[in-house]
Amino acid sequence: MINPSEFIKQHIRTVPDWPQAGVQFRDITTLLQDPKIFRVLIDIFLARYADAKLDLVAGMDARGFILGSVVAYELNIGFVPIRKKGKLPFTTVSESYELEYGSATVELHTDACKAGDRVLLIDDLIATGGTMMAGKKLLERLGATVVEGAVIVDLPELGGSKLIQENGLSLFKVCD
Ligand code: AMP
Repeated sequence: MINPSEFIKQHIRTVPDWPQAGVQFRDITTLLQDPKIFRVLIDIFLARYADAKLDLVAGMDARGFILGSVVAYELNIGFVPIRKKGKLPFTTVSESYELEYGSATVELHTDACKAGDRVLLIDDLIATGGTMMAGKKLLERLGATVVEGAVIVDLPELGGSKLIQENGLSLFKVCD
């Protein structure tokens, strides 16, 4: 029998040269639209975090919202969004980071979590690691403990997972 992470991997579509030449875009919509595969994926996260004594799940804009909110709901804990700049209406903390071309900024509401909260940080994919590192910094600025970063896919050739782990964040990847 095929193992669950291989099953997930086979249902992610790779779109070459999108959104720009040279990028192999890992499209998870093909996975989400199939209820059996979506359930296998969510169950992998639930098995890992059922006993992790988490207080919150934080999801990165935007695919981290889809995954993180379902995981939070099933664990019966709250969900907080880490959004791209200018989308959150209340007071925020913000972090900027470098992209391959240019920079990006993400924000978190100042009351999204409290000191000592144990938070799982979730996104669909790690490339250079900048997005997840920025999310970690935001949560830590509010005093939270980021228990782990969790993604479906890692692109190790871009160095992000190494960077993240060198910065002291444990990383869980559904697909190797
Ligand atoms: P990075 O900050 O470089 O680790 O990029 C990770 C973020 O960008 C995640 O939120 C991903 O959704 C998105 N991303 C970057 N590269 C890709 C890719 N090749 N395929 C799909 N999403 C990507």
